[in-house]
Order: sequence, then structure tokens, then C-alpha cells
Amino acid sequence: TSNLQAAAAAKGAFYAGDPCSGDSCFIGGNVATNAGGNRAVKYGTTRHQVYAIEVVNPTGKIVQLGARLQKQTTGYCLEQLVIGSEGTLGIITQITVKLLPLPKYSMDLLAVFASPEAAIGTVNKLIMGGITPTCVEYMDNITIKSVERYLGTSLQGSDKGNYLIVEVEGTSEDDLDEKACAMDEICSGNGAGDVLVAEHDKIWQARKAFAEAVRAESLIVCKEDVVCPVDQEPALLAEILRLAEKYQLVTRIASHAGDGNIHLNILKQEQESYADWDERVKANQQELYRFIYAHGGRLSGEHGIGSKRKQLMQEFTNPDELEMMRAIKKALDPNNILNPGKIFDVE
Ligand SMILES: Cc1cc2nc3c(=O)[nH]c(=O)nc-3n(C[C@H](O)[C@H](O)[C@H](O)COP(=O)(O)OP(=O)(O)OC[C@H]3O[C@@H](n4cnc5c(N)ncnc54)[C@H](O)[C@@H]3O)c2cc1C
Repeated sequence: TSNLQAAAAAKGAFYAGDPCSGDSCFIGGNVATNAGGNRAVKYGTTRHQVYAIEVVNPTGKIVQLGARLQKQTTGYCLEQLVIGSEGTLGIITQITVKLLPLPKYSMDLLAVFASPEAAIGTVNKLIMGGITPTCVEYMDNITIKSVERYLGTSLQGSDKGNYLIVEVEGTSEDDLDEKACAMDEICSGNGAGDVLVAEHDKIWQARKAFAEAVRAESLIVCKEDVVCPVDQEPALLAEILRLAEKYQLVTRIASHAGDGNIHLNILKQEQESYADWDERVKANQQELYRFIYAHGGRLSGEHGIGSKRKQLMQEFTNPDELEMMRAIKKALDPNNILNPGKIFDVE
């Protein structure tokens, strides 16, 4: 994916999809999982970057879906049905992506908050503040320290609290300055101790190292990818922290906060028995998912279901919705040959 970004940039164009795994994932995988990532706040997820796809369908036909058009209402939107279907409806063999002009001016601000609640509580205000941020990312302090250890570096403000990393694009230096002042006012007004101009490469290297840093701490991790409406995010974070305390879980949290997608990693500690840890993780999951569905959220924002979360998907998804999904899978893949057993089972 980062090769695609670079190839577009070499032609003066901008590919807006930007999952943190950009250096290791493929555009086919991004489309198959509807990958999100950092710039979804402004540009949407992978599905918003795609005009058309070529798909080898489960009966062996090669079909072109979609078109290089800004709009069309010509029957079902099948390319969008295949996007995010995790390889269960077809193998994607070509993709026509949307490219935009390269943003001319951009800057990254780092706001450091003593309290996690204050940091997350600021996100919706930034979104509603009219500055149209490209990215709003959150990292809690213990995660920042973990990334510092993993990268062997020191990060700005890491001794002071929890990060909001805000990237914004502008039409000129003056426009950027105005937006920076507005962001500073919003963040400071909501309890940020420091609002700094961040070093672009360093701060994004740190944010993107989250998963590897966690893996360096523990090889056994439960990765939650819950998502809720942005205005419900403070309540969700409070619930995550309450449950972590209740079930005595060691957590690292980073989130695509600008779109309500919280990555909660629960690390098994060496001294914990697997059975006991797993029981607490499952109890946490039940309470967390009940909360998230009651607040208009879903159990996965961007990682998808795979086979790991399919029982939970069945438990928490509206049965009528699940029945429609199964009917589509049965109609398009009557022999159940493409990624069978992913997302849900088909009898
Ligand atoms: C460090 C790290 C950071 C991450 N950050 C993000 C993030 O910010 N945002 C995000 O959304 N995800 C993130 N992820 C998850 C993952 O990288 C993405 O979901 C990515 O889109 C998966 O692409 P891949 O090429 O690795 O696909 P794979 O993992 O190889 O495949 C994913 C699924 O898609 C199917 N598939 C793959 N290619 C095709 C194809 N051509 N046609 C049909 N089906 C296909 C596979 O069968 C599989 O079911 C992260 C993962 C890691 C390890």
C-alpha cells in the first residue's frame, strides 16, 4: 500500500488510503477488508477510494464491477458489496482507485493531556470545530512509553500524559496557521497541558509502531477493534477503563479517535495462567460488546471478523441482517469455496 501511495505521489497525485500496516499490507487486502486507518476522518475508508474492481467470482467468471464515475445508480452497487467481504464473495484481481491532488500544505499538532478522558473528550470538539482534520489519533501514556522502548527513542511530551495527534491540511501557510490556532484553543480549553507542533516523520513512526511495540511486550494479546459514534467515544473509553480495572487486565490503547475506532490491546502477562487470562478477556468482551451495541457501535471498525470473531458476530448481530448476509453468500458462492468459515458459517 505504501508503494501505491509513493507511485501516486511520484505522479503528483494522492492516494488517501493509509492503514498503519501500509508497509506490509497489499491493496487487495485493503479492499477485501475495507481497511480504515489514519485518514478516514477526512477521506473515508478504503471503499471510498475505489471506483471499480475486477473480481473472479466463486463460479469462476471474471467480472468488472463499478465504473470510473463520480456517481451512478444503475442497479445494485456490487463493487461495494465485495469490498469488505473478506474474500468470501470473490477474488479481487484489479482495482481502479481514486486519486486526488497532493495536499500542498499540512501540519501535525500534538496535544498532550494529563487525563485520557479529557483527550478523548476533545475529539468531537475538534471535528465540530470546522477545521476538517485529516487524522485525529489517540495514544494512552503507557502505550507511548511502550513505543519509546520499542523504538529506542524519546518522544515529545511522553512524560506528561496522553496524546492526541492531529493532522490538518490547508490551502496556504496562513490557512494552516489559522487552523493551528483554532486547534490550540480547542485542545487547551479542554485540558491539554501542551500543544506542540509535532515532527511529522517521528510522530507517525511512533503511532504506526503501536502494534509491533505491543507484540514486543507480549506475544499473547487480545486485540479489540471496537467502533462507536464519535460523540459516544468518551463514554466508551470510560467503560473500557472501568472494565480493565474490574477484570484486572493489562491494556495498551491507541485509537483512530477521529472516527470512533478504539484499538484496545489486552496483554497476557507471563505470570498469568492462560486459562484464567482467557476467562477474564471473554468476560470483558461480553460486557464491552453489550455496551458498544447499546451505544450504536459495532465490534469491529476496520480489522474485520475473520474466523476469530465469528461467534461474537453471530451473537451480537441482528439475526435478520445476518440472514441477508448468509443469503447473499449462498447465492453467489453456492459451493461455499471462497474463504469458507470466515465472517459467519453457512449451513
Ligand atoms: C501493524 C499493523 C497495523 C495495522 N493497522 C491497520 C489500520 O490502521 N487500519 C486497518 O484497517 N487495518 C490495520 N491493520 C490490519 C490489516 O493490515 C489490514 O486490515 C489490511 O487491509 C490487510 O491487508 P493484507 O494485504 O495484509 O491482507 P491479508 O491479511 O493477507 O488478508 C486479509 C483478508 O482479505 C482476503 N484477501 C486478501 N487479498 C484479497 C484479494 N485480492 N481478493 C479477495 N480477498 C482477499 C484474505 O483472504 C483475508 O481474508 C493493521 C495490521 C498490522 C499488522
